[in-house]
Amino acid sequence: MPISVAVDGPVGAGKSTIARAAAARLGFVYCDTGALYRAVGLYCVRQEIIDDKDKIEECLDDISVSLRIVNGYQKVYLNGDDVSAEIRFPAISMAASTVSAIPAVRNALLGIQRKIAEENDVIMDGRDIGTVVLPDADVKIFLTAKAEIRAERRYTELRKKGVKTTYEQVLDDLKRRDYNDTHRAAAPLRLAEGAKLADTSELDFEQSVDLICGIIEDTVNAE
Ligand code: C5P
Repeated sequence: MPISVAVDGPVGAGKSTIARAAAARLGFVYCDTGALYRAVGLYCVRQEIIDDKDKIEECLDDISVSLRIVNGYQKVYLNGDDVSAEIRFPAISMAASTVSAIPAVRNALLGIQRKIAEENDVIMDGRDIGTVVLPDADVKIFLTAKAEIRAERRYTELRKKGVKTTYEQVLDDLKRRDYNDTHRAAAPLRLAEGAKLADTSELDFEQSVDLICGIIEDTVNAE
């Protein structure tokens, strides 16, 4: 049976960069499930239906989202088109948060995620991986950091990509998404049973990767 590692946590905790580096070090496939919600959000923004829950539910059959690993990097396809760059824009982050609160959207994306874990040793990151998607994961980690530190890191990352924004805007956006993710009725973000808490507020990137790899190795070796 492949090994599965569930990494959940709030916006900007560094899940994607830290989990990706840990996966590369341990020889696991890395799966960023937020990309799936972002692709659905992008579709709904393009169709101008992001404010209409009924229409979003109705159009789910028209949306085909898939993930492929190309040269070690995850690419995201929306109805056959590579949308990996476009889904990273801040407007799409908020759209992803909106669509992710709809149970029908979550159900539609469940099978894709579970199939990846059935076929690969995987580190999968998201909000409900340890609670809903892979409740029997071999290792569960809740990765977090203080909101201001997360906002600072995200701001730097967005600026590097050339996205025009301010620190205050990023912090505000992050707090709103945290609120949505923890207060929604469908699969809210919370600490999964048996999850290990990893707070990276005081750690740099390498230390964070060491921490995650250490938790994974200790847990797998103890089994
Ligand atoms: O992780 P990322 O910021 O890319 O996720 C975008 C949005 O998708 C999150 O704000 C969250 O609302 C949603 N999401 C989710 N469940 C997941 C992954 C992401 O609800 N497993």
